[in-house]
Amino acid sequence: MHIDDAVFLEDLCPKFRFRQWRKSIHKFTGKSCIYCGKPSESIDHVLPRSQGGLSKTENCVPACLSCNGDKSDENAFYWYRRQKFYDPRRAMAIRAWLEGDLRLALRLLQWANPKFRINNKNYEKDESEYKAA
Ligand SMILES: [Zn+2]
Repeated sequence: MHIDDAVFLEDLCPKFRFRQWRKSIHKFTGKSCIYCGKPSESIDHVLPRSQGGLSKTENCVPACLSCNGDKSDENAFYWYRRQKFYDPRRAMAIRAWLEGDLRLALRLLQWANPKFRINNKNYEKDESEYKAA
């Protein structure tokens, strides 16, 4: 292998992993913004990178461009509390997300938005309710 190829591969793999990782973040919430529930088009650093926030799952949430741009470098919780769409359940979900408890975060998001679907379990539940009726 040529030495330049090695450098190229080293360079390429993290980017590919980064893309996969970004995708997985959006997948957690079914591509909905963690703050307002609209389609998530970006990844928001809860603790901004300018303040030392890391690009890891615990610090990165799916967000729509509007929330992401509006929040900018502000503290996520202070900013969020001022929003019209503020929902304490979502705030708790964000906190759980930051603590790395994605399972709890997703449960809280689902509570905030009953239409939000984590996976097929909901569908099964609906079906059993239908049968029981
Ligand atoms: Zn949003």
